[in-house]
Amino acid sequence: MLIKILYDNSINKPYISGWGFSCYLEDEDVKMIFDTGWNGEILLSNIDSMNIKLDEINKIVISHSHWDHIGGLNHLLEKHRDFDIYIPQSFSENLKNEIKRYKNVIEVNSPQKITKNVWTTGQLGEKIKEQSLLIKTQKGNIILTGCAHPGLDKIIKESEKLGPIYAIIGGFHDMNLEKLNNLETLRNIPIIIPCHCTKNIDSIKREFPIAYRECKIGFEFNF
Ligand SMILES: [Zn+2]
Ligand SMILES: [Zn+2]
Repeated sequence: MLIKILYDNSINKPYISGWGFSCYLEDEDVKMIFDTGWNGEILLSNIDSMNIKLDEINKIVISHSHWDHIGGLNHLLEKHRDFDIYIPQSFSENLKNEIKRYKNVIEVNSPQKITKNVWTTGQLGEKIKEQSLLIKTQKGNIILTGCAHPGLDKIIKESEKLGPIYAIIGGFHDMNLEKLNNLETLRNIPIIIPCHCTKNIDSIKREFPIAYRECKIGFEFNF
């Protein structure tokens, strides 16, 4: 599975950075986008400069309804309408109806299979409901998070029910890394790639120098 960072606040010229997160996933079965950043024009420009063909993408997964993850969606829908869009069931009715105008909306509640190798954890969390992706590889599963608002410990615990974790990548926003216990939740994961809203990336780097990988817009990770 190829994971490519389409939208992130990290700087890596010539790509355009901005607050938000989006990445592109590709394997033999599927080409999909996970989250859409905030600004659709920036997203489309990065997709274009990375030579990704929008009309070959057939699925979009939105982790949660924050503007920095859903903002670029309408630009994608205007370009190409034959997507299946996976959204948390807890989205407001107004937002759901708006997206449904473009059909093929799948409202996600519990864990489910999206393609041969990609699962959603289902929506987790109390205040801000969010779904993460689980990507199956020969080495174990990869967790892909948007902001990780439900808490990394909860996401990791739920994900482990579907098999051992090989890597975790995405925004680790609501993880207070000052607390040792929270760092400990990452302890046995072989590859850790904090992106987007993760605070204290330096602590992760210091604590897990072998597992840590840098995340920047335009970077590709092959699993
Ligand atoms: Zn968020
Ligand atoms: Zn975010």
